[in-house]
Amino acid sequence: MNVLVLNCGSSSIKYQLLDMGGEPVLKAKGIVERIGLPSGMICHKNDKDQAYDLETPVPNHTVGINLVLDALLSKEHGVISSLDEISAVGHRVAHGGEYFTKSVKLTEDAINKIESCVDLAPLHNPAHLLGIRAIQNILPKVPQTAVFDTSFHQSMPASSYMYALPYKMYETYKLRRYGFHGTSHKFVAQKACDILAWNFNEKKIITCHLGNGASITAIKNGESVDTSMGFTPVEGLMMGTRTGDLDLGALLFIMEKENLSVSQANSFINKQCGVNGVSEISSDMRDLQSESEKGNERAKLTLDMYAHRVKKYIGSYAAVMNGVDLIIMTGGIGENSCHIRDLVFRDMDYLGIDFDFNKNDGIRGKDEMLSKEASKVKVMSITTNEELVIAMDTVSLVFEKQLS
Ligand code: AMP
Repeated sequence: MNVLVLNCGSSSIKYQLLDMGGEPVLKAKGIVERIGLPSGMICHKNDKDQAYDLETPVPNHTVGINLVLDALLSKEHGVISSLDEISAVGHRVAHGGEYFTKSVKLTEDAINKIESCVDLAPLHNPAHLLGIRAIQNILPKVPQTAVFDTSFHQSMPASSYMYALPYKMYETYKLRRYGFHGTSHKFVAQKACDILAWNFNEKKIITCHLGNGASITAIKNGESVDTSMGFTPVEGLMMGTRTGDLDLGALLFIMEKENLSVSQANSFINKQCGVNGVSEISSDMRDLQSESEKGNERAKLTLDMYAHRVKKYIGSYAAVMNGVDLIIMTGGIGENSCHIRDLVFRDMDYLGIDFDFNKNDGIRGKDEMLSKEASKVKVMSITTNEELVIAMDTVSLVFEKQLS
């Protein structure tokens, strides 16, 4: 049973084909890029690691999805011999607003609700809708699902999700904190509980998803009770190119001094700040670590700032939940950067964490315990896999089959 997982952006389509018949197997993955530009391309790889790249104009998402299906069907580098071998399609959808508390099978009603969230995610939701409609045209009989970045956080209490704005801003515009990366936060927390043989619904867990985008979530008794991203993904931690938390007055000051329009300011806070902006070196932690080792003071400052903010959120979420049983590090940085983990967990013994600094040094991209045996609060590195969550949710919604 093959599930096609699609993440449609405004100018790209990322895809994976997973065989979910037994233990999940990744059969193919790839990306279509530069949709709508004169020169588009597809980069495809199958389960035998055979790569196929093609440069060709991709005027719209329907053409892009047809390219994906052609690559999957190809005699040379394909992995299926007929489109009938695709049992379902699961879409990553950035914003489900207040409509969706979990993943759903796509009906016209669900599609209309995703459409009414376009205002909340103007770059992402329209692209997802193009992907959904394209599949409806090309594979009309194949069931589709939507898995939302926001739905896991719909359990947050109003005291977490409300901003201190006039209440009518919430009533008029649904302006509130939504949070993102929900699939990843839930997946790694459940996976860690499975490894530890713990009941997910009885624990206090802080999940740190540290990738190019980054967020932290407080999960109490299986539910998100607070998360660091807000109305948009800009709030919270310092990220690759996003500011994270910033005094609003500072932004107004910059807009005035630099004469920035709203859209220029939006691009500034999303694309020119964060790790890249402070370091003026790179948005990639690996570059900063190697520069810092060579004695570059700005690289060192950037790394220290990054870790300081993660530490601050961990402390505040322990306070929110009246304690914590487990802290999880995931995402490209959380899973791989021993240096950031080292900085975050220095001087955290007050919280009951006995971090194993020696073991931490060798752990990259693995599910591992990072705290010592006797540590009251456990710390783990857990690998995330958002596409797998989408495929698992799709199977359980379409075939009413629960996968562990
Ligand atoms: P993600 O968005 O989850 O794919 O994470 C991407 C980020 O992970 C990159 O921009 C790097 O900053 C970071 N990263 C990946 N591998 C490593 C590594 N070995 N050491 C440190 N950081 C890494």
